[in-house]
Amino acid sequence: MKITLTLIKADIGGVGGHSKPSEKILTTVKEFVNSKASELLLDHLVFHFGDDIGILMSHNKGISNSPIHKLAWDAFTKGTKVAKSQGLYGAGQDMLKDAFSGNVHGLGPGVAEMEFEERPSEALVVFAMDKTEPGAFNLPLYLAFADPMWSPGLLLSPDIGKGFTFEIIDTEYLKADKIIKLNTPEDTYDIAALLRETRRYVIRAIYSRAHPKEQALAVSTSRLKHIAGRYVGKDDPVAVVRTQRIFPATEELGACFRVGHYVGGDTRGSHHQPLMPVKFNSTASIHYCIPLVQGITFSIQNGKMTEYVDIFDEPFWDFVRQKVSEKSILMREQGFTEPSMLPRDELEYGGIVERLKNLESKFKTKK
Ligand SMILES: [Mg+2]
Repeated sequence: MKITLTLIKADIGGVGGHSKPSEKILTTVKEFVNSKASELLLDHLVFHFGDDIGILMSHNKGISNSPIHKLAWDAFTKGTKVAKSQGLYGAGQDMLKDAFSGNVHGLGPGVAEMEFEERPSEALVVFAMDKTEPGAFNLPLYLAFADPMWSPGLLLSPDIGKGFTFEIIDTEYLKADKIIKLNTPEDTYDIAALLRETRRYVIRAIYSRAHPKEQALAVSTSRLKHIAGRYVGKDDPVAVVRTQRIFPATEELGACFRVGHYVGGDTRGSHHQPLMPVKFNSTASIHYCIPLVQGITFSIQNGKMTEYVDIFDEPFWDFVRQKVSEKSILMREQGFTEPSMLPRDELEYGGIVERLKNLESKFKTKK
């Protein structure tokens, strides 16, 4: 059976800042999606990650399907009304256009979706990150799909050992959809050369080379600033990933998030901070909104999802959280100096840019 998994997300307002959506918004969005589910969906799950809300939907209508995208858009529109009525911070922040037009691409909400022939044992992982950007997925996905030091399946499984095709998008040219396809293992260094620039080059999808029609994953790659023409917040990204058999094991993929690698983001989207793996439906941290990633795994059959397992909710990850907390403090002790604070062209809140501009005329040539 061919199914589509669509995950659409948006930040439509937070309680007391960028913490989490209110219970009333979450209930509003859930009830709306429930009311449309029997007509359009095989299954669904509504959740939050920090101040963002995710709507995960299984269906058989293909990608970029208008009624499916409209369902999410309408749910977020209803939620935005509640956010405004409650005076929430950033109410309707990611709803950048007034009207729905075909699908949510270019309207503000982020999308990760893929269509695939369901396997007899279809294993899936969903990741959602808050207070960071799509390039935060570059390192863990590279490790899981291209590095045998991290992903032993690349050596141990003949199918996985044939490598993967990486689809990488150049987000500077998002409107023109500039995409490059590169293959592991032969293009590994080219892939690494691109993925190191996390603010520009982003993994959009990965495909099996043993079974080229089989897509392993999809990542949301929207850049809100391209849509709005100004900085309106980080593009908190989501990803849907198929695991097991011809793809890395769920555990090989999950382990790559123990790095707690430094990513651009946190409060004001202005610093490098480590990516903290947290429990599902977590609130953003009051410690400078440290970038967070949460994840679930589940099985699916005829589009029906089992209950999920919260992958970062067991003792090992408490240890990782300890390590990442220390990394966060160490970097923050550097205060406003680089690389703690992002370089000038990434300081998306305008205040410091204006300040530096004003100082320019006061510089005198040294005699
Ligand atoms: Mg957010």
